[in-house]
Amino acid sequence: MDLNKDVKYIKGVGPNRVQLLNKLGIFTLKDLITYYPRTYEDRSKPKAIAECVNGDEVLIEVIACGRVSEVRLKGKTMQRLLVRDETGSCTITWFNQSYLKSKFEVGQKYKFYGKITNNFGKVTMTSPVYDDKGTNFNTGKIIPLYPLTYQLSQNVLRRIMESGLAEIEGKLQETLPDYLLENYHLEGINEATKEIHFPKELKDFEIARKRFVFEELLSTQLALLQLKNSYRNDEKGISFDKNVKMSDVINKLPFQLTKAQLRVLEEIDCNMEAETSMNRLLQGDVGSGKTVVAMCAAYKAVKCGYQAAIMAPTAILATQHLENFEKTLKELDIRCELLISGISKKKKEELLERLANGEIDILIGTHAIIEENVVFKNLGLVVTDEQHRFGVKQRTKIAEKGKNPDVLVMTATPIPRTLALILYGDLDISIIDELPPNRKKIETFAVNKKMTERVNGFIEKQIKDGRQAYIVCPLVEENEELDLKSVEELYENYQKEVFPQYKVEYIHGKMRPKQKDEIMERFKLGKIDILISTTVIEVGVDVPNSNIMVIENAERFGLAQLHQLRGRVGRGDYQSYCILKYEGKGETVRERMKVMCSTNDGFVISEKDLELRGSGDFFGTMQHGLPEFKIANLFEDMPILKSVQAIAMQILEEDPKLEKQKNILLNDLVKDKFMKRIEL
Ligand code: ADP
Ligand code: MG
Repeated sequence: MDLNKDVKYIKGVGPNRVQLLNKLGIFTLKDLITYYPRTYEDRSKPKAIAECVNGDEVLIEVIACGRVSEVRLKGKTMQRLLVRDETGSCTITWFNQSYLKSKFEVGQKYKFYGKITNNFGKVTMTSPVYDDKGTNFNTGKIIPLYPLTYQLSQNVLRRIMESGLAEIEGKLQETLPDYLLENYHLEGINEATKEIHFPKELKDFEIARKRFVFEELLSTQLALLQLKNSYRNDEKGISFDKNVKMSDVINKLPFQLTKAQLRVLEEIDCNMEAETSMNRLLQGDVGSGKTVVAMCAAYKAVKCGYQAAIMAPTAILATQHLENFEKTLKELDIRCELLISGISKKKKEELLERLANGEIDILIGTHAIIEENVVFKNLGLVVTDEQHRFGVKQRTKIAEKGKNPDVLVMTATPIPRTLALILYGDLDISIIDELPPNRKKIETFAVNKKMTERVNGFIEKQIKDGRQAYIVCPLVEENEELDLKSVEELYENYQKEVFPQYKVEYIHGKMRPKQKDEIMERFKLGKIDILISTTVIEVGVDVPNSNIMVIENAERFGLAQLHQLRGRVGRGDYQSYCILKYEGKGETVRERMKVMCSTNDGFVISEKDLELRGSGDFFGTMQHGLPEFKIANLFEDMPILKSVQAIAMQILEEDPKLEKQKNILLNDLVKDKFMKRIEL
């Protein structure tokens, strides 16, 4: 049995289905059997007809009282079958399935699974599933329902799964060591694999699931902790001079740092002075003032004789950082430079030379900094901003340009602390949990589409007062072309019909970086009144004069993302507004809008997001750069996650490299993780 065997060799999989399976990420037998059900339908236990309540989805075990009869109804045909059990009778109906007329035999027993209508004691079931005599593919058991089976029906996938499981039946190699299986009462891999797909009882799948969740979370934890230890065990890092005080630069700032900023700087300072190198994650809500923290750290590095690199995800942001740094650092004789892909070849060559000679103290830039020909004289500190845009790999790559430089990773994605501690197991964590004083709350309103006119009136009033507005277009999932269309349509509408008297512009991710920068620059200078945008403006741009943001079809965004977007306003002295235009009446939609209107606290929002969407969605969107899980749900499985973290620490304490015989299997799991998830 070969787990890496191509799915095309599995019984029931033809060329057509191979493609559909591939679309679901299923390429091998192993992929197939680890494609877990989303939920289950319990068709195992029959219910007495007399006990069926209107709307129930139930299995009934009945005797056919007659043959199937057929009537014509407005161009359709309807098939009817009267059945009964000991408690009552039920009429089963189908549409346009004439072949059923000869299907069922009078007096024989059948099982049907479907939705019950109970109209004052008159019981009917419409279009149920059933099995031919002597088979039990559809009824009499618990049926798994798989996610995303677009074009591939549940039935077909289920049959393929059955053949896949038949091939491996009992032959899987155990992937967890015996001592873990025993100590934590986990089910063996063969049993668990069978039960996760086809549980005999509902509780069986819980038991199976627990094993896989444990395995998935444990291997992630082990991988992260090993990563962390590998930084630690490295040769010594830089021990920055205790006599260089950050207060020298703090005193030059035009404002007082918040308590949270000071606390975080203290943590960073300690790390920098220590002999080991720093690997720290700085979490702070949008607008909490992370940039200035990075600047203080960079100041210290430079005054200790090292260079610092600041990496931002976009050229706009990098430029903005440069401006901010220069405002304060110029008079302290610190030389900052900008490296983005847009600069001329000549300028770049000259810049690189100065960098290598140590004539530049702080290099601020985009991905361009990672390029091979960028050589520092002695890089001592690396800061990456908006971490979720960069993977671990890029982080490591830039750190390799120095000799164990200190690393600070900044992110505006607030995730609950407990989660952060666990998921960023490879980093120490600092949190800025306080906004600078006098920040006005961004007033947020959720409105129905019908209110468009009033909203437009409101925008107009703000613009008349000299402000600017952002309009964010609806997110069209995973389809950039449609996104593009929606931004252009929106632009036409606003510029031509709604606000012909104002300057409207649009910006989207497909534009060349230079073009984007140019538009943002003009918006910053106030030459554009209304900027229509896709989510490209999500990341830290600062335009203090814009005080209003309208988000179209807000129901399509995740809460965390809405929060990020909203953070673009409220950066100046003006009262700011965020207007969420939504469609749809769903309970969750309303609940989510309510959360946005009631709080500006990113941590509260992310916790709610997690709760309302389930972590699958929350993390699946990749906006967090967190590892994706196949089966674990970070919200529901938090208790397992916590215990697994402790277990992982214990294991590594005793066997840091997982070399002992008893941990060989764990070593394999971790290697597998590293291989697959470079972005871990
Ligand atoms: P973010 O954490 O989102 O990156 P920034 O660093 O861009 O936030 O800071 C947002 C704004 O707040 C900037 O204009 C910055 O100068 C200002 N700021 C930062 N810290 C303080 C403070 N302690 N008091 C007043 N304003 C501050
Ligand atoms: Mg920022």
